[in-house]
Amino acid sequence: MDYLKENINEVKLDIEEAAKKIGKKNGEIKLIGVSKTIDVSKIEDAIEYGITDIGENRVQELTEKMDLLGDKVKYHMIGHLQTNKVKDIIGRVEMIHSLDRISLAKEISKRSKSEGIITKVLVQVNVSGEESKFGLEPKNAKEFIEEVSKYENIKIEGLMTMAPHVEDEIVIRKTFSDLRKLSEEIASDNYNNVSMKYLSMGMTNDYKIAIEEGANIVRVGRKIFGKRIY
Ligand SMILES: *Cc1c(COP(=O)(O)O)cnc(C)c1O
Repeated sequence: MDYLKENINEVKLDIEEAAKKIGKKNGEIKLIGVSKTIDVSKIEDAIEYGITDIGENRVQELTEKMDLLGDKVKYHMIGHLQTNKVKDIIGRVEMIHSLDRISLAKEISKRSKSEGIITKVLVQVNVSGEESKFGLEPKNAKEFIEEVSKYENIKIEGLMTMAPHVEDEIVIRKTFSDLRKLSEEIASDNYNNVSMKYLSMGMTNDYKIAIEEGANIVRVGRKIFGKRIY
């Protein structure tokens, strides 16, 4: 399993370098190991090699892993979340990265209230405009956030996006810098109960660029765990 240790160290080194480039410290950037399709035993090894947070995009797979791994690691829901699955993860996840509609916000708030907790969420924005991607259109983000800020058992802590599926680094970089600018605008609007503390952007192919453009959460799967077999 030593390739896993090597991969994790390599990603951490990359993060450190990219952070340094823009005058940030390594510790300011959170690495989420995206463990979809990956066995629990491999995830346990990754935890041993320093992974503290994992991300999953399907509720069933996430809860199965929670049952097996317990509190050894923190959990992030990073994929499209169906409203009827919210009840399965409330109180068990560190953060939901994929808030993209009011009906979902309502359900998260309702379920959180009945557990007596406040759930941390990121608002997913479809900056690139690709039709295949979930998320709000950037121009609708502010109105959405203003509405959700009234929900007492949800706390918006930032934004999340995915880069478009292209090779062109300029296009990818612009996606990330556009999200950063949007988060700065929202921050300056000072909505009650909203913080723009986190920018969750950057995956295996683009996490270095994302950090240079302001990401402080990166979600890395293949570069850590290897190719996914579905
Ligand atoms: C799969 C996935 C990732 C990780 O992708 P890699 O290319 O394997 O690093 C990150 N974010 C989301 C939302 C994902 O679904």
